[in-house]
Amino acid sequence: MVIIMRPDANLPEVEAVVASVNALGFRAHVVPGLARTAVAVIGNPGPLAPGRFSRIPGVARTIPITTPYRLVARETREAPTRVTLGAGPVFGPGNLVVLAGPCAVEEAEQFLATAAAVAQAGATVLRGGIFKPRTSPYSFQGLGLAALPILARAREATGLAVVTEVVEPASVEPVAEVVDMLQIGARNMQNAPLLRAVARTGKPILLKRGPAATIEEFLLAAEYLVVEGNPNVVLCERGVRGFDPATRYLFDVAAIPLLHRLTHLPVIADPSHATGHHALVPSVTRAAVAAGADGVLVEVHSDPGAARSDGQQSLSHPEFDALMRSLPPICAAVGTSLTAPMAHA
Ligand code: PEP
Ligand code: MN
Repeated sequence: MVIIMRPDANLPEVEAVVASVNALGFRAHVVPGLARTAVAVIGNPGPLAPGRFSRIPGVARTIPITTPYRLVARETREAPTRVTLGAGPVFGPGNLVVLAGPCAVEEAEQFLATAAAVAQAGATVLRGGIFKPRTSPYSFQGLGLAALPILARAREATGLAVVTEVVEPASVEPVAEVVDMLQIGARNMQNAPLLRAVARTGKPILLKRGPAATIEEFLLAAEYLVVEGNPNVVLCERGVRGFDPATRYLFDVAAIPLLHRLTHLPVIADPSHATGHHALVPSVTRAAVAAGADGVLVEVHSDPGAARSDGQQSLSHPEFDALMRSLPPICAAVGTSLTAPMAHA
């Protein structure tokens, strides 16, 4: 159940609601909103009688939540959540945040060159994996913590916000000290200890959909983060396992508007991992923008043919630039715009 407070409810009234929830042996999670505060009841085994709360001063109404996720549900918070990276880009309605960079950080000068290229083309978030959760143990696993100074340098040189993936709780803290956003990869979407460790940093989180995760499982993974006290969660549709290896995964474009209906969290798309092929990435990126994505994550490499991971799906610098130039009309059609003015516009 979610208890919706009146717009003019004061703090003691909200606290009284929290106390009455706690008195029943349940947890209360206060969800602030622009127009009103909501109090989500957590831990109740079954439906609660609305009469318990509706007479408390300041309470407007109660809503039964029928989904197993609560804090991320649209009913709990009517205003879309905006997730801000430091002083930089904001994920939320009206903005299209472009996250770009190589699959993996391979070498400093090359990474800096790609960082400069994607910034010039209009991206506002730089990606680059230092821990690569590869399918094969024989594939390049990333440079690890030793590459953190490279991420810091690129951030300093370009002013881009930086996102990178963490794969184990032990490295979450040192990575969180350097980057603006922590990524939880598709393979770790249901790794509860990792989800909790990342949430506790308070840093914005990019949560990728597991390759075989239902939408409900995806939202429950996000619930792990928010219930831990971190509301700064961005969801990423990156394709699910299909039957046909012609594309790497099956890009679920309907997930974007569906998630926007079910949750207040921002939703972005990753056409690179979804398609697995550079020739398909521009069209699918445009489809994601047209479907209302709050951002797109695109792998870009200075020399895709020589990349140590995911070269086949990476765009070259000129290909990325061309893609970026094609986005403004689509953004305009769906009422969004690129977060930073494009240098060449
Ligand atoms: C990545 O972003 O480099 C990555 C490994 O993606 P995913 O977790 O979606 O496979
Ligand atoms: Mn990759």
